[in-house]
Amino acid sequence: MKQSQLFMPTMKEVPTGADVVSHQLLLRAGYIRQIAAGVYSYLPLAKRVLHKVETIVREELDKVGAVELTMPAIHPAELWQETGRWDLYGPEMMRLQDRHGRDFALGPTHEEVITSLLRSEINSYKKLPLTLYQIQTKYRDERRPRFGLLRGREFIMKDAYSFHASQEDVDAMYDKMYQAYSNIFTRCGIDFRPVIADSGEMGGKDTHEFMALADVGEDTIAYSDSSDYAANIEMAAVNTNYVKSNEELRELEKVNTGSAKTIEEVSELLAISKDRLIKSLLYIVDEEPMLILVRGDHELNEIKLKHELNASTVELASSEKTHELLQVEVGNVGPINIPSTIKVYADHAVAAVVNGVCGANESEMHFKNVNIERDVATVEYGDIRMIQEGDVSPDGKGIIKFARGIEVGQVFKLGTHYSEKMGASFLDENGKSKPMIMGCYGIGISRTVSAIIEQHNDENGIVWPKDVAPYAVHVIAVNVKNDEQRELSEAVYERLKGVSIEVLYDDRKERAGVKFADSDLIGMPIRVTVGKQANEGIVEVKLRHSGETFEVHESELVEKIQ
Ligand code: ATP
Ligand code: MG
Ligand code: MG
Ligand code: MG
Repeated sequence: MKQSQLFMPTMKEVPTGADVVSHQLLLRAGYIRQIAAGVYSYLPLAKRVLHKVETIVREELDKVGAVELTMPAIHPAELWQETGRWDLYGPEMMRLQDRHGRDFALGPTHEEVITSLLRSEINSYKKLPLTLYQIQTKYRDERRPRFGLLRGREFIMKDAYSFHASQEDVDAMYDKMYQAYSNIFTRCGIDFRPVIADSGEMGGKDTHEFMALADVGEDTIAYSDSSDYAANIEMAAVNTNYVKSNEELRELEKVNTGSAKTIEEVSELLAISKDRLIKSLLYIVDEEPMLILVRGDHELNEIKLKHELNASTVELASSEKTHELLQVEVGNVGPINIPSTIKVYADHAVAAVVNGVCGANESEMHFKNVNIERDVATVEYGDIRMIQEGDVSPDGKGIIKFARGIEVGQVFKLGTHYSEKMGASFLDENGKSKPMIMGCYGIGISRTVSAIIEQHNDENGIVWPKDVAPYAVHVIAVNVKNDEQRELSEAVYERLKGVSIEVLYDDRKERAGVKFADSDLIGMPIRVTVGKQANEGIVEVKLRHSGETFEVHESELVEKIQ
């Protein structure tokens, strides 16, 4: 590709409003442009990176037997009403009406669509298992779109869905996907950790998030270098196996209802640090709510978490309200509205910080009938203190550290939640009708591009890992007006193309300084500079990641850089 023909609008200045390095570099290096908050054009260089990532994803998914299809981005409301998610999804769902006033959504995810597709076509165990995926634009009206491609409102996702006749089968697919994801992110050059995430199920074995380690990440993960344990901190709060004894729980029960408590009192009550508690509250107010349950004497407690509370008090008030509350599955993952007040009603609940991410309506979030024996003790939601740095990991093999992570992917066992609600069943060997067992697996393709840049950059620009770089080699003619330099540059360009090396050739009539700065900024792994020694056929090779340079005769170039 000749650079004079490429659309690659670079800029020198750091654009205002871009707070994280990947966002800044994507803009400065001419990869993306914003059209509305969280909505971007992918310019030619970005398109090539996306394509590289997608190719890696396709190759790894093909290996595990997943098959590609494309589903619509426009979804009729009726499908989402079948699962109840038309209401539950809240304002994150982009909604529209057609000319007849019928409701539609722009798909934020595709469980409903794929389940409806499969229920009409698959009716026998003989046709299972089946794993389908697509790479497609998704729409989520995020409350706070930010950080460029990291949190967009229109973004590219790979979403896969698997359908099975037995639990063993979905378990096996889950493991394969887990491995495929590990391969994908490794090939993308990402330093990542798969972490136990919140599934609302026992032990958190049923979902993992793949976290790219980065300080700008919105998630905190708890991990240990000398053990395999790694969990999203939300999950770590409930999965540390530090289950308190019944005595301790009963002690906690005594500290109960009716009075407003200070942060200090609550932090003591919950046995977590004040800092952490405030952080949790900030998190609740700022991001997705956590559920804080306070054990009371079979009474319902209402904890109001108000905005003002960030730094001051948590109000604990007993409530007359009993069982009229909305049923919410603890741990049910769904997008939520950020309420200004979160009310938690807990029947016979325990003092605990349980990770929340629950369905919520406009102004408040309710929990009904949370029962300590059933919901806490027996499902091992038991830890009533969040894991902390310096703790021994639950497997006893290491010391816990915290790190920030960007969720680049998630794998999930869905069970029969959707297939039951939507009537997607099959006949087993004995002719008995059963709901299909499902898994789903997402990767944020566009987010992954940003995550790569977060991990691969220096003060001069992007430093692409080889397998995802837009071009492998950047050839620079220092002075195109010089015949020898221009001719050699073109010969090198043709030679590289001839052996299928992807090459970008800077043939512009620009000053050398501008060309070098742009070259560093856009970040191809190998730069080949054709300058003064062109008359001897000598070019300079510079490796972007190490800065190492060497001179080579153009006839040996291919051999030297491969
Ligand atoms: P997050 O916790 O960051 O909001 P999520 O858990 O809501 O993400 P999933 O529903 O698991 O996202 O979607 C699968 C993948 O899609 C995520 O792992 C992430 O990589 C990507 N993704 C989700 N939301 C966005 C977004 N707003 N912009 C870009 N990528 C996204
Ligand atoms: Mg989300
Ligand atoms: Mg998430
Ligand atoms: Mg997720």
